[in-house]
Amino acid sequence: MRSFDAIIIGAGQAGPALAGRLSDAGLSVAIIERHHVGGTCVNTGCRPTKALVASAYAIHTAQRGADYGFSAGPVEVDMKAVAARAEKIIRDGRAGNENWLSGMANVELIRGHARFESPIVVSVDGERLTAPRIFINVGGRAVVPDMPGVDQVPILTNTDIVALHVLPRHLVVIGGSYIGLEFAQMYRRFGAEVTVVERMDRLITREDPDVSDAVRQILEGEAITIRTGADCIGFARSGADIEVRVDCAEDARPIVASHVLMAVGRRPNTDDLGLGAAGVAVDGRGYITVDDRLETGVPGIWALGDCNGRGAFTHTAYNDFEIVAANLLDGEDRRVSQRLPGYALYIDPPLARVGMTEAEAAKSGRRLLHSKRPMSHVGRAVEKGETQGFMKVVADADTRRILGAAILGTSGDEAIHGILDMMNADQTIETLRWAVPIHPTVSELIPTLLLDLAPQ
Ligand SMILES: Cc1cc2nc3c(=O)[nH]c(=O)nc-3n(C[C@H](O)[C@H](O)[C@H](O)COP(=O)(O)OP(=O)(O)OC[C@H]3O[C@@H](n4cnc5c(N)ncnc54)[C@H](O)[C@@H]3O)c2cc1C
Repeated sequence: MRSFDAIIIGAGQAGPALAGRLSDAGLSVAIIERHHVGGTCVNTGCRPTKALVASAYAIHTAQRGADYGFSAGPVEVDMKAVAARAEKIIRDGRAGNENWLSGMANVELIRGHARFESPIVVSVDGERLTAPRIFINVGGRAVVPDMPGVDQVPILTNTDIVALHVLPRHLVVIGGSYIGLEFAQMYRRFGAEVTVVERMDRLITREDPDVSDAVRQILEGEAITIRTGADCIGFARSGADIEVRVDCAEDARPIVASHVLMAVGRRPNTDDLGLGAAGVAVDGRGYITVDDRLETGVPGIWALGDCNGRGAFTHTAYNDFEIVAANLLDGEDRRVSQRLPGYALYIDPPLARVGMTEAEAAKSGRRLLHSKRPMSHVGRAVEKGETQGFMKVVADADTRRILGAAILGTSGDEAIHGILDMMNADQTIETLRWAVPIHPTVSELIPTLLLDLAPQ
């Protein structure tokens, strides 16, 4: 049995950074990875999808050449070249992460699947390792629910579709939420017919209805078919095609797809980790139970990133590392509950969000102020010819603090940080009154948006 000061299971978005901090503090670290260093984000998530979104955006802009006064001739998409560009970005990201790890003085990368044997012993393909501190960073994977016929047809997940080199004739995306909608729009722009099938009565149901409606309008404007309220989803083979049933009615006609992407949610990689042997508890959905400092119920074992159910993003996984490192190495008392929820949906234009939705703010019982501005009233958006969407903010009338905001519009993923930073700094809505933002930007309208706040 080999001994280390710390063992990290999973080299995703929290593990390598934590390994670096522990190594700098002079601790010996074993970091165990069963697949690719960099985890979901680098290999099958953020990086490839944002690379593909960039290709889709360039294609879409070329097709809109006439709006800008040029003609690029007929736009032809080379899916192999699109995929090769994304693959290079993946490979470079992975290599960067591997080099980073191999440059750490006291860190050993061990390849293989890790399983607990006890609270201080982990086995990796027969080899036994022990450490007084163990950090679990195992991430998650796509859920493929047991829908009728699902095992009779080929089903793609995010892992398969980022490696696709062909253009689907008709892509059916099961799940009208964050991951599904990015793929839906990019494949439509690559030239596929696309249908989104959603069980609920609207897309991205966590968002306010006006956000869902505007996103639907943007996607339908690009001839994506949206089928909400799909109550009986099932699959059957039909020659080389796949029939997707979306309606309970006996005579309902199925959608005939060439490819089906399952994007209905993620589950944590905790089912084959031997957590029972360590006494680490999970909740009903398999997420590791942690306290506000990300400690499990077992002293010396922490869980970071998607597997603890406290975040589902790269920035939340990385922030988990920051919290654990600050508490362990810097004597701080950082907590997950101090984190403001912020995220973006990378359709075009992007939807960026921070804090509460208006529905959540209304439920909180506070006296509220609201402000909303269409992107058609944002000079930069008009000049760029990208005026879809809106920005809106909700604030507490008594504390004068922003509670939440959404920017569905061009550069919204960047501009939202003006609001996110104000919320983090716990500033009142008057703070930006004398700011002089740069013209023309999307961000320059944020002070105006705040000054327009009023009861509804
Ligand atoms: C299609 C898609 C697009 C996304 N886009 C974005 C985005 O734009 N922005 C954003 O913030 N987030 C995005 N995400 C989410 C983001 O990828 C995750 O939140 C992030 O990767 C979580 O990091 P993590 O470290 O918790 O886990 P992961 O990155 O999943 O890493 C976990 C690692 O642990 C390894 N592992 C698991 N079990 C074991 C074991 N038993 N032994 C050894 N190794 C093990 C895995 O192989 C993996 O490498 C996206 C996700 C998907 C699927």
